[in-house]
Amino acid sequence: KLHGGRKGLCLVLSAPSGAGKSTLVARLRAEFPVFAYSISCTTRAPRPGEEDGVHYHFVSRETFLSRREAGFFAEWAEVPGNFYGTPREPVEQLIARGQDLLFDIDVQGALQLKQVFPQALYVFILPPSREVLEKRLRGRGTDAEDVIARRMQNALCELKQAGHFDYHIVNDDLEEAADEFMSLIAKNPA
Ligand code: 5GP
Repeated sequence: KLHGGRKGLCLVLSAPSGAGKSTLVARLRAEFPVFAYSISCTTRAPRPGEEDGVHYHFVSRETFLSRREAGFFAEWAEVPGNFYGTPREPVEQLIARGQDLLFDIDVQGALQLKQVFPQALYVFILPPSREVLEKRLRGRGTDAEDVIARRMQNALCELKQAGHFDYHIVNDDLEEAADEFMSLIAKNPA
């Protein structure tokens, strides 16, 4: 279990891929700077504009696996070929200080975290419709049909986990989604 009762507000944001979570999370981080952000470790390469220690701690596979062995992570997951994990210690320190905290992790990771950290609020971001989801998963339209079908299958599988989450936000309009997030914070004083 993660130590320390909840003193701040801890929000865990998860979504099936294609729900448009990254745009929403970027927006929330900008709009609610009082929330500290749980910086995950990942083995994937940084994308343009991503900074080590800000968006992620970018680590090698060897480093990740030895940290995982050592119990460094509160939860971890393998998302197509890459590892992602939430470092336990910084989160515990921030919680102990009563800091509000935001997590952006995948659905399987959120369900794992809930086992050791039930005090957090688990928020599930939903795509507005199946059509939009499929359109987003098709991306630039350059991927093979079987790849798209697999992504869709995955997303539908993740959607089935929605019932395990405390709140659901439909990510249709970015402004509205941010407003919903705001009212969720208002309803849950730390
Ligand atoms: P991306 O590579 O696009 O930044 O992230 C891919 C997926 O990994 C997203 O769904 C993101 O929320 C998830 N993710 C990022 N960090 C973590 C983590 O520490 N643990 C888990 N389980 N998933 C993570």
